[in-house]
Amino acid sequence: MTKYIFVTGGVTSSLGKGIISASLAKLLQSRGYRVTIQKFDPYINIDPGTLNPYEHGECYVTEDGAETDLDLGHYERFLNTPTSRANNITTGRIYQNVINMEREGAFLGKTVQVVPHITDEIKRNIRILGENGEFDIVITELGGTVGDIESLPYIEAVRQFRWETGSGNSLVIHLTLIPFLAAAGELKTKPTQHSVKMLLEYGIQPDILVCRTEHPLSTDIRKKIALFCNVNVNAVIESIDASTIYDVPLLMLKEQLDKTVLAKLKLPHKSEPDLESWKEFLGRLKNPTFEVRIGLVGKYVELPDAYKSITESFIHAGTRNECKVKVEYIPSEQLTTENAVERLKGLHGVLVAPGFGERGFEGKIEAIRYVRENNIPFFGICLGMQCSVVEFGRHVLGLKDASSTEMNSATPHPVINMMEEQKKVVNKGGTMRLGAYACDLKKGSKAANYYGKSRISERHRHRYEFNNDYLKDYENAGLIPTGINPENNLVEIVELKNHPFFIGAQFHPELKSTVANPHPLFINFVAASMAYARKK
Ligand code: GLN
Repeated sequence: MTKYIFVTGGVTSSLGKGIISASLAKLLQSRGYRVTIQKFDPYINIDPGTLNPYEHGECYVTEDGAETDLDLGHYERFLNTPTSRANNITTGRIYQNVINMEREGAFLGKTVQVVPHITDEIKRNIRILGENGEFDIVITELGGTVGDIESLPYIEAVRQFRWETGSGNSLVIHLTLIPFLAAAGELKTKPTQHSVKMLLEYGIQPDILVCRTEHPLSTDIRKKIALFCNVNVNAVIESIDASTIYDVPLLMLKEQLDKTVLAKLKLPHKSEPDLESWKEFLGRLKNPTFEVRIGLVGKYVELPDAYKSITESFIHAGTRNECKVKVEYIPSEQLTTENAVERLKGLHGVLVAPGFGERGFEGKIEAIRYVRENNIPFFGICLGMQCSVVEFGRHVLGLKDASSTEMNSATPHPVINMMEEQKKVVNKGGTMRLGAYACDLKKGSKAANYYGKSRISERHRHRYEFNNDYLKDYENAGLIPTGINPENNLVEIVELKNHPFFIGAQFHPELKSTVANPHPLFINFVAASMAYARKK
C-alpha cells in the first residue's frame, strides 16, 4: 500500500519546502523506495503557464506537456525520474474540475461546497499518484503558509485524508523557521509554537518538525520545541542553511529524517542509503579545478529564478567537467551594436535564453552576432535559437529586416514563423507546442556526437518555428539544421559550421538535466567554454 507524506510550511514562505521534499525523497529513494513528489499551489490560475516569470519564476514543463511550478524541476533533478501533469495541481484546476462536474450534473442536485466537494477533489488528486502501484511513497508539498486563507481547503483535505487512511499510513512534516535574534543572542521558538498551534486548530498534529535555522539547534532547544509542539525529540529536525541545495539530502541524513519517517510510516529499512554517486557529485562540485565565465543573456535576469533550470544545468555540467561555471546575468535590453563588445568581452561562452515578446530581442541578436564573429561558444535555447536564425539571416544571408513574426509580423523575411496549427489558437493557456517530441540528429553533426545517438526526445514550449522555406539557403551558407522532428520536419537544432561551438535548440535541454544525468549539450558547451578560456 502506498504511504503518504504531507509537507506544510509555517511562519514564513521561502523556507525551502521544495528542497526539503526533494531531499527526503532522495534519501528514501536511496534506500530502495519508489518515491514521487507532488505540489499543490493555492492560486486560482489553472497552471503557471500564463504567469509572468517575474511573478512566479521559471515555468517548468513536464514530459506530458504540463506547465508547472519550478519545484518540479528540483524533484526531477534530485530523483532523476520524470514528473507529470498529476504532480502539480492548483486551486484553479481543483475548482475547474468541480465546476465542470457540476455542469455535467454529477452532483445530482446537491449544493456544491468547499467541504465536501473541493476537499474531495483535493483528496482525489492526492490519491491519483498512489493508485497505479508505481510508487511506494507519495510526498505532497502544500504551497503557501499555514494560516493563509487559500491553504485552508488543502489543510482540511489532509486532515480528512489522514483520518480515512488510518495511522501509520501518512504523516505530516511541518517546515518552520527558528529565527535568531541577534540583540538577545538567542534562537527563538515562539513562531514555531504558534504555527503548530494553528495547525492543531485545524485538526492536524504534525509528526515531524523541520526547523530552518541559521545556527545549530542545541539539545535544550530541541527539547523545548518537542515539549511545546507535542512531538518526539528525534522528530525535531534541524535544517541549517547550506552552501548548496545539493548538500541538503546529506544534512537530512545526518539528522536521521529518513529513519524517523520510516519508523512513523511503519516501513522497513530495506537497505542503508546508497548515496555514493551523490557524494561523488558533491565532491566534484566543491573542488573545481577550473573556472569559466558564461554570460546568460535574457530579459528576466533581475530574477534568477526565471532561469532556474538553466543555472542548475550549468552546475551539473560544470561539475561533470570539474569546472566552476560563473554565470553572469546580462539584460538583453541593454545590449546595442555599440556596447556589445564592451559588455561581452571576457566571457568564455554566451547562452541566449528562452523568452517571449519583443523586449530585449534586438539585444539578443547583438550578442549572437558578437559571439558568432568572434568564435566564442554560443548556446541558444528556444527564443535564443530563433534569435540565432534571425541574426544569421540578416548578417550572413543578407535578408534585410529578417525576423520572427512574433516580433515583426510584417517582416519581409519571416525566417521564424508561427506554426499553421498555432494560427487557429485563441486561448493562451496550455496551447503552445508543449512537452516531449522526438528529434532525429544528422549523422556526423556535433549534436549527434554530443548525444552519442541518432534519435533523442526533448521538451518544448513555444509557438514559433524555423521557417522551412529558408532551409536550403541556411544550409548552403553554413547554419545547418542538424536536428529534425521526424513527424513534421520541423527544425529542432541548428549548428554553425566552422565554429568551435554554436548550437541553437528549439527545445529546452535544461528541463532534462539532472544530478545523475547532466545534459550532453550543457556538458559540451561548458567544455567548449573551458577550451576557449584556456586558449585565451
Ligand atoms: N517566444 C518563442 C515562441 O513562442 C520562444 C519561446 C521560448 O523561448 N520558450 O516560439
